[in-house]
Amino acid sequence: YDAETGSVLPTIYERTTAGALAHQALNLGQGFPDAQGPDWLLEAAAHSITHHEIGPPNQYAPGLGIPALREAVAEHYRRRSGLVLDPETQIMATTGATEAIAATILAWARPGSEVVAFAPFYDSYGACVALAGARLRTVPLRAPDYRPDLKALETALTPNTSMILMNTPHNPTGTVFSREELARILHLAAERDIVVMCDEVYEHLIFDDASHTHSPILTVPGAENVALAVGSAGKSFSVTGWKVGWLTGSAKLVNRVRGVKQFLSFSSGPAFQWAVAQGLQDDQGFFAENVATLKKGRDLLHSGLERAGLRAHSPDAGYFVVADVSGVSEHSAEAFCAELLTHAGVAAIPVSSLISAETPAEDPLRKLVRFAFCKDHSTLEEAVERIVRFT
Ligand code: PMP
Ligand code: GLN
Repeated sequence: YDAETGSVLPTIYERTTAGALAHQALNLGQGFPDAQGPDWLLEAAAHSITHHEIGPPNQYAPGLGIPALREAVAEHYRRRSGLVLDPETQIMATTGATEAIAATILAWARPGSEVVAFAPFYDSYGACVALAGARLRTVPLRAPDYRPDLKALETALTPNTSMILMNTPHNPTGTVFSREELARILHLAAERDIVVMCDEVYEHLIFDDASHTHSPILTVPGAENVALAVGSAGKSFSVTGWKVGWLTGSAKLVNRVRGVKQFLSFSSGPAFQWAVAQGLQDDQGFFAENVATLKKGRDLLHSGLERAGLRAHSPDAGYFVVADVSGVSEHSAEAFCAELLTHAGVAAIPVSSLISAETPAEDPLRKLVRFAFCKDHSTLEEAVERIVRFT
């Protein structure tokens, strides 16, 4: 977002993928998997478009999403974590997590207020806060383990804070916030009567050697009427193009976001919603399989980056390894990424695109580069060879 001209610029993902295509480079930039999602799920989507017994699959869906999806989301969380959600009032389907995030921010970020987020953050948080006319204040996650500093969070909250944005498991560090950390954040928010949006799109991508277990924020005492959670089928089922997401929380909070969603998309496409409902009812072992494959990719990339002389962080979850490039480059992470693209044919993303523009030049977050490992292992192997040669 360019505050001077008021225009929204192409995202770092768009630019990186365009750069990768232009240079015929290996794309470890944008976080989408090379794999297509399980065949049975793709078949469910193909079926849903032509089978009318599931409702009119090609006309407007109800604003909250088709009942089959809301029921499947409710049942899924009940089974996995004992969370009880009313599908009639506490679940709203959205056009990807991206729409849930935008609608939630527009529902609470008053113009002139401050919104607090941990940095790095998913880029849409910063853009939507700016579009709402609010100001983003960030609390950094720091190496070596990138855990949230809750004292710093407390200091960042002011009487003018309208909401807290957080993301666990975290993009790009893979940090899984502990139940205690979540409880503390909820407490700080409740004391100030502000809401917490918790983006949980990587909830199904947690490795078996993770140092912390994931608790959905809505299962933590104190979440009611304070927290909203965001989920996405894109990451859970390796179908990022389907753009099926959902928002969960108390009926009161969800209803407020629903008001905004009406004027973003009105309603989200029903056919993919139906297919995702099938997947949530029974993932047929896909979540476990996917995590095992991703973990191999993580280890391959992490060890390769270390071999190339970068200081790489092995994540507990998600699609990304962040690595500090100061050992191999005196330049900024942006300059490193530009050279890596043109000289080595590998695209990656400088973490400086995922922090506030006000972050000081010497901040260590500006020396980090994000590499995606949700790619074919042969691609990762080739990318590692190129990076090793380059450094
Ligand atoms: N939040 C985070 C943290 C993400 O990494 C992404 C990208 N997948 C999104 C939200 C957006 O998800 P979706 O593609 O479902 O809109
Ligand atoms: N979530 C993915 C990432 O972080 C892609 C997001 C996007 O392309 N908008 O790379």
